[in-house]
Amino acid sequence: MFEPFCAGDLSKKPDELKKLLADNEATIERLLLSENKTFQSFARPISELDEKLARFVTPISILQHAENSEETQTAYSAILPLLSDYETRLAQDTRLLAAYQKILAEDRTIDNVQKKLLEDAILQFELEGALLDEKSKTRIAEINARLADIDNAFSQNLLEATKAYEKEIDESDLDGVEPSDRASFKGENGKWRLNLLPHSYAAFMRGATNRALREELYRAYVTRSPQNEAILEEILRLKDEKARLLGMRHYADYSLKTKMAPSAEAAIAFVEELIEKSIPQALRELEELKAFAKQNGFKGELQSYDTAFWSKKLEKSKFDFDEELYKPYFEANGVLSGLFEFLTRLFNVSFVKTQTPTWNDSVLVYDLEERGETFGRLYIDLYERKSKQGGAWMDAYQTRMRRADNSLELASAYICCNFAQPSEHTPSLLRHQDVVTLFHEAGHAIHHLFSRVDERDLSGIGGVEWDTVEFPSQWLENFAYEPKVLALFARNYQTGEKASAAMIQKLIDAKNFQSALSMLRQCEFALFDLKVHQGAYGAAEVQGILDEIRKTTSLIKTPKYNKFQNGFSHIFGGGYSAGYYSYKWAEVLSADAYLAFAQKGVFDRVLAERFVGSVLSAGGSRKAMDNFTAFMGRGPNADALLNLSGIKGER
Ligand SMILES: [Zn+2]
Repeated sequence: MFEPFCAGDLSKKPDELKKLLADNEATIERLLLSENKTFQSFARPISELDEKLARFVTPISILQHAENSEETQTAYSAILPLLSDYETRLAQDTRLLAAYQKILAEDRTIDNVQKKLLEDAILQFELEGALLDEKSKTRIAEINARLADIDNAFSQNLLEATKAYEKEIDESDLDGVEPSDRASFKGENGKWRLNLLPHSYAAFMRGATNRALREELYRAYVTRSPQNEAILEEILRLKDEKARLLGMRHYADYSLKTKMAPSAEAAIAFVEELIEKSIPQALRELEELKAFAKQNGFKGELQSYDTAFWSKKLEKSKFDFDEELYKPYFEANGVLSGLFEFLTRLFNVSFVKTQTPTWNDSVLVYDLEERGETFGRLYIDLYERKSKQGGAWMDAYQTRMRRADNSLELASAYICCNFAQPSEHTPSLLRHQDVVTLFHEAGHAIHHLFSRVDERDLSGIGGVEWDTVEFPSQWLENFAYEPKVLALFARNYQTGEKASAAMIQKLIDAKNFQSALSMLRQCEFALFDLKVHQGAYGAAEVQGILDEIRKTTSLIKTPKYNKFQNGFSHIFGGGYSAGYYSYKWAEVLSADAYLAFAQKGVFDRVLAERFVGSVLSAGGSRKAMDNFTAFMGRGPNADALLNLSGIKGER
């Protein structure tokens, strides 16, 4: 049912992969020779090959990102070009394209989902140059191979730089840093040191009273991996070249071909509208921050390395909200059980803890059951480690699908977070923001695991338009602020006492603190990403675009030395190129859908069932807009996002 996690001997992976790819290609050749191809006899066996490949690669990818070492790096960088080569070869194979076209035209047995799969696949062939001349095809293959390499190098450089930085400090330099955060500043030799791991970086910038040291750490953070500047130029140049070979204006057009937003212009207009509506309130939020800092003895201009510090203090004073006081109520295991209890009540599914091999002893594994029947498996890796990439992410491991012989394969997924490690005396205590992150990733996970789609390419998170992938994750995030949901798990881990209604109300009041400023920040990233993928690639040009956008979005002047772009691995080292706006795009859908639940008092079985049926279990089997309208009975409304964020557009 589920393949047990096993990476095996990493040094053998490249050779094993070569064999697997050769076997896959031999099977494809055989399938191509077969007469009377049908969906069942041709498309499904090809999906099976894709699934086999994904299951081989996923454990290596997990290790590379969650247990990074020289061995994983060697194995991973050796397999990437093999994969890219294979994928490009298949994507450009006109015989495969012709077979899909013929099945689409002639197989009278296909249903709507299978029809969509074929149409999506045909578009994908076009986007990989299957219709171009041989010379252009070869060039696209070269570009894909090179991009796979340097995208990975971009992320790897950033990870190395993050790991490498250490600065010895005195204990007194930690003045202001919350006691519960201090353990992460203790080096292996017992001495205190600054580092750039996400949790400690944020804790220091929020708390430390030593301003000079805050600036030093900030500077170290925003100047990481300077060698990425050259890689970034090359990534942009190659992506642009690929788009032009396909007859498009630029890479943003290429990216938008497979998204819900109709065009690059529409995506830009969408982001610019959010910026425009957020600016008046953002200015008010900044004035409030400046006034507060001044009242509290700060002299001079607020700088980028001051904002987190003063914002934290302002938040405390304004809402009498102290994140620290909440941590004992959010012990990691308690939060996880609460999340499961919530999902169980809403969706009538259960999470059953199970024992199976994983990549780290701290990883937890659960099987999902509905009416006593197992339908999915979830791996959860909660804690930060030096060998782990920053941030939080979810990905598919297995995908639900029906094989050519009609037997069923189940879905599995994994979640990685970077929460504080439990220590000998204290369990892992989460900030509320961490709770939100966990809900977010769990939203992705159930999107994948709840699939009822039989065709692999459109099942779970597969085949979902990229700009709506964040819809279920952001939808679930909102429930981490619901009193009825928090009541399930917000409990002091030492005394067992529940968080009071007043405590929970404060959390909700503080939710939209500086929401317009953070809206501007996200929109800055989104706009930069969309514009930089319109034919720009020289480092100076890239910087120029960023500076120009910041004139509007960055209300506090960013220091000249800030090279944020060299660390923007989301778009340069990952799949979000010309797609970062997706977070906001999907947030409109999620805010809208969430408000429907909030109006019904959260635990509404009818609504929950409709959400599962129309959205969660439907995956990419229909267009995202169709899923959304099936649930809401109408199209999305952008004001839902501004309302939920508490942003009032008026000046
Ligand atoms: Zn996400």
